Amino acid sequence: MRRKIIAGNWKMNSSRADGVALAAAIAAKISSSSPADVVVCPPSVYLEAVGQAIKGSAVALGAQNCYFEAKGAFTGELSPAMLRDIGCSYVILGHSERRQLLNESNQDINRKVLAALGVGLTPIVCFGETLDQRKAGQTAAVVREQIEGSLAGLSREQMLQLVIAYEPIWAIGTGVVATPQQAQEVHADLRKLLEIRYNSEVASAVRIQYGGSVNAENAASLLAQPDIDGALVGGASLKTDSFLAIVVAARQ
Ligand code: PEP
Repeated sequence: MRRKIIAGNWKMNSSRADGVALAAAIAAKISSSSPADVVVCPPSVYLEAVGQAIKGSAVALGAQNCYFEAKGAFTGELSPAMLRDIGCSYVILGHSERRQLLNESNQDINRKVLAALGVGLTPIVCFGETLDQRKAGQTAAVVREQIEGSLAGLSREQMLQLVIAYEPIWAIGTGVVATPQQAQEVHADLRKLLEIRYNSEVASAVRIQYGGSVNAENAASLLAQPDIDGALVGGASLKTDSFLAIVVAARQ
């Protein structure tokens, strides 16, 4: 049985005070008997303050990015070890906004994944196609290429330590959510790919989140799909009620 995982990607939103209040309100309602693992991913400058607000709770802290080098002259970057040092256990990598706006390549993401795993962070690695690619029937091929590049060289043990997020780009922040069937189809393909690349044990153990306009209303039908193991939530993670409702929807 894969335990569901709901992660909130706050992106470049919130203030220190609002972020601390949001995290504290979420932490107050989440316990180890909640239906899913819960992660909040604030902007990096607020990681420490949000970490304090959720300290001792069942909510985990995640970063939205990291660099692949351990230390040195990399102005503006944060190493995986620094994120561990301030209490992160997760890091989102390969988000489509970083792939598209900041030109991150599969190779960059691969180096980041390996660096994050190296210090014990759990990477949440994102994959997904554009609308044009979907319309051209290229979804499976695009996602396969991203997986093969971004997760190159990972051992079975390393694969078991990460979380995959399928995030169709056309659904991110658009209010247009993939239907449960569209998402399930890609998730099932991803699991097949893991079986081919590794084995059935890895394929059945790795958690695959869906992301893209998940909200309190549509979460239950997505999370009811057999291969959807959670959600990576953007907009709806910025409000306590909508985020908690998505966590509740993980109880099937
Ligand atoms: C995201 O950016 O990871 C995301 C899924 O955003 P939204 O839920 O707002 O579509």
